[in-house]
Order: sequence, then structure tokens, then C-alpha cells
Amino acid sequence: MTLTVRQFACLSDNYGFLIRDEATGMVATVDTPDAEAVLAEIEVSGWGRLDLILNTHWHPDHTGGNERLKAETGCEIVGPEEVRRAAPLDRVVVDGDLVRLGETVFEVTAAPGHTLGHVVYRSIKDDLAFVGDVIFALGCGRLFEGSPEQMWDSLNRIAAWPETTTLYCAHEYTASNARFALSLDDRPEMKAHAEAVFAARERGQPTVPTTVAAERRFNPFLRAADAADFAARRAAKDGFKG
Ligand SMILES: [Zn+2]
Repeated sequence: MTLTVRQFACLSDNYGFLIRDEATGMVATVDTPDAEAVLAEIEVSGWGRLDLILNTHWHPDHTGGNERLKAETGCEIVGPEEVRRAAPLDRVVVDGDLVRLGETVFEVTAAPGHTLGHVVYRSIKDDLAFVGDVIFALGCGRLFEGSPEQMWDSLNRIAAWPETTTLYCAHEYTASNARFALSLDDRPEMKAHAEAVFAARERGQPTVPTTVAAERRFNPFLRAADAADFAARRAAKDGFKG
């Protein structure tokens, strides 16, 4: 592992990620939910710098700290064009682009659905990805801008990665997602997985990151039969009180 990830809770249910390329000491934040929290994490880590912001999508709980962090550190801001709706951006990335943090290389994958421009960042060498609000542990993002077909395709691009891939999701929604999953899936292993989620949350422990393997096995959206079934499940979750 040549990339170190520090995950921290911020805002009401977001996770921030401060990452360092160990070969060069270069530091990035994935999204900027809260500039104050990112600066505090830089302080606690002792890493002493911020070189890069990687934005996944334009929503304010992912870009709200861009302006201040750039002003205070001079870092470069990389993200999809849509970020400009809410915050400053230096370099626009699209599907297939590569972004470097020192010796770490992130591959950009377009993943529309939650927003139209949403991208995710994957380091193949480190077997991990930052997936923003596309996929969550046992869930997926709401369809604010895209179609069910777009989101179904985006989820399947992620599901096609190696099963060992670690997925860093941007919110702690897993207990609520697990209750919805149980409403559709009564397999004993699903129940056991949900119980482990509930127990972790009662202990105050995060359930993020997850893995492609776990999501392929338990995520009710990845387990949909097709795009139409996915659309029905997404609509049911939007109205689910559990
Ligand atoms: Zn969002």
C-alpha cells in the first residue's frame, strides 16, 4: 500500500478522506465537505500540507470547502465541470482521465445518476476507489439528476471491478440501508450482515469503507435483476420508512 487514507466523520453524516502518497508525501482531500474539518485533519495527521482536491460531484457537502482550502494551501482543484456550479475548479476531468498524486495514479470513471457529472476515482495499484454518492454500503445515491438506466450502468461499472476493491463511500447511511435491504432479502447471510452493521453502529463504529465483494453479495441495488427492477427498488427506497 503506497497510499494512506485517513477517514473522518464531518457535517451530519459525511465522511471526509485525507490521503497521502507515501512515496512523495503529497496530500489530497477527496471532496471538501467542511474546510474546517479538513484543516483539522491535516493538523492531527501531521502531514503538514494539502496539494490536491479531488471532487466527485458538485453538491455543496462535497465542494463547500474548495474556496477556503485553496486560499489557505494553494492546492489544485480537480473535478468534473459541474463543480463550477457551486465552487472553484482548476482542472476538469472526464471519463478515462488520469490524475496523479505523487506516484499514485487515479483513474477517473464517469458514474452519472446521482448527478449527471459525477465521477469516481480509483487507484488500481492500491485496489481502492473513492465513490462519492454513487454507491453506499448496502445502498446507492438518490437520482437527483440522472435516469435509473444511467445509475444502473454506473453501479455495474463499479461492480465489475475486482471483488477485493475497497470502496470509500461519502456517507454513513448503512443502518438505514440495511433495514431496507432486509425488506427485500431474507437470506440468513443478509440477516447476519445487517446485524453486524447494527452492532457496529451501536458501538459508534463506521461501516465505511466497504468492498466490491460485500456489495455484490448484499447491496439490494446491485442485486436488482435489470434496470427496470433497479428503478423500482430505488423508488421503493425513496419512500421507505424503516
Ligand atoms: Zn451528493
